Amino acid sequence: MSANAEVARILYEIGELYAIKGESFPSRAYLIAAQRIESLQDDIRSVYEKGELQVIPGVGKSIAAAIEEFLESGGCSHLQKLRESLPSGAQELMALEGIGPKTIMKLFYELKVTSIDQLEKAARSGKVRKLKGFGPISEKNVLQAIEDYRGFQKRFLLGQILPVLREIEEYMSSCGAVLRVDFGGSARRMKETVGDLDILVASEKGEEAVEYFISMPRVTRVISKGSTRSTIIVGSNLQVDLRAVPPESFGAALQYFTGSKEHNIKLRTLAVKLGYKLNEYGLFRRKDDKKVAGETEETIYQTLGLEYVEPELREDRGEIEAAMKGSLPNLVKYGDVRGDLHVHSSWSDGNIELDEIAEGAQQLGLEYIAICDHSRSLGIARGLDEKRLRKQMKAIEKLNRNLEGFMLLKGIEVNIMADGGFDLSNDILKDLDFVVASIHSGFKSGMKKMTDRLISAIHNEYVSTIGHPTGRLIQRRQPYPVDLKKVFGAAADQRVMMEINALPNRLDLNDVNCKGAMEHDVSISIGTDAHALGQLRYLPLGVSVARRGWLQTKDVANTLRIRELFRKVSR
Ligand SMILES: [Zn+2]
Ligand SMILES: [Zn+2]
Repeated sequence: MSANAEVARILYEIGELYAIKGESFPSRAYLIAAQRIESLQDDIRSVYEKGELQVIPGVGKSIAAAIEEFLESGGCSHLQKLRESLPSGAQELMALEGIGPKTIMKLFYELKVTSIDQLEKAARSGKVRKLKGFGPISEKNVLQAIEDYRGFQKRFLLGQILPVLREIEEYMSSCGAVLRVDFGGSARRMKETVGDLDILVASEKGEEAVEYFISMPRVTRVISKGSTRSTIIVGSNLQVDLRAVPPESFGAALQYFTGSKEHNIKLRTLAVKLGYKLNEYGLFRRKDDKKVAGETEETIYQTLGLEYVEPELREDRGEIEAAMKGSLPNLVKYGDVRGDLHVHSSWSDGNIELDEIAEGAQQLGLEYIAICDHSRSLGIARGLDEKRLRKQMKAIEKLNRNLEGFMLLKGIEVNIMADGGFDLSNDILKDLDFVVASIHSGFKSGMKKMTDRLISAIHNEYVSTIGHPTGRLIQRRQPYPVDLKKVFGAAADQRVMMEINALPNRLDLNDVNCKGAMEHDVSISIGTDAHALGQLRYLPLGVSVARRGWLQTKDVANTLRIRELFRKVSR
């Protein structure tokens, strides 16, 4: 882990502990500083050595002191004291959805609960429902939260894994014995969560490649080591498998280890029907066992009479049948995307200034970004009222005057209220370039109510897209119940888009629902929902969801040039 990441982790923990204690002011200060340092371009150690810690926005005297102590000694007494002042299992319990600081303190003082296991015991023996303010429903919710938490523990978010993967790929390509590097498994299919990593190298000298692999700096444990394969642990619990194969089998091995299992079973069955045998070494003609393909994946699909199937599609959702007919979609490409349609700034709960966003986006090669801060009723996120929004619009116009080949769009993430109305009037919405409408509360009000709220928002003539349309948080919160067919129908009618929110733990709409939206003729907008500069880099994650959902360039609004986009959103 880099020093920046380590410092950020400590500040995050301090922020979380203050939240548990119910001290929201210092909590917010530490969390913001943590975000800042996480996305800082410079190395925090060199910033410290120049004596410039407090130049970082959001880093005051006491935060700077904590950073200094950590960089000098590797410890942090502030964090230590906080940890000691709280019940030992408080942080573990915070990981449960719907369990807040107050509940944790209550569980501790009244039931002596300090861990998830103890909480489960207490709930199962009916103790939780007897607490004041609790009841059978909260007991059920507690048990559900524990079950979800346990089910989610074993997988990593794709967005967390990809940087590690790129790092390993880069490291392995610098090995003299390695001719080619790629990776397989669900990560190559860009599935939203990933269990372990499969690295594949083409090499004539497997043993050398394995030696190189296990001496990677990030390795914490070597589980196994053979002449052509090895398994290691990186960090605390990420398992990484390496396989070294001869170059002439590389394509076959890549195909085999990319999966999915269901896709491969179907492909092997097809091979048999056509008189072939397909395995990780190649594609063989049955009658004389002659190898007819294997060096590349393309030749394998081709020999079987199929169009090449992109990894993101290999889920046995009709892709093999379509490849046979030559009717696979021409998927939207990662480089097709020209802008980001949902970004927060320091005007609400983001920590990036408008000019930093413009600069960061241009560095990523983007042509536009829609600034969509929260609206008035999200007080906790410092939502904008009409007066501040007008002020922000002016600031954006001023900035745009000095920008060339790039533009900030005046937008908002307007909050959909319980009755389906908004907390801002049409008077101001009509003057914006891009309006994201999202639900942020009342998730438990049932399918009919949630569907009605979304449809009512869709009927507002100034709405461009629906933000994070199902509200799910991967491994943390189930989607709220909503009749998406009805919602897509209304959206198609009103020509409102649906968002793919590209935050690693949202990816909402998901792949399957994207396909549903496309089949209803609803366009998709992709937004990173970035609150920090580093999060602008999540845009490709949104594209991966679109690709897994069979979307083409024409289905994704972000691929439009700015003028075309304006035409599209002025319905
Ligand atoms: Zn939102
Ligand atoms: Zn947002």
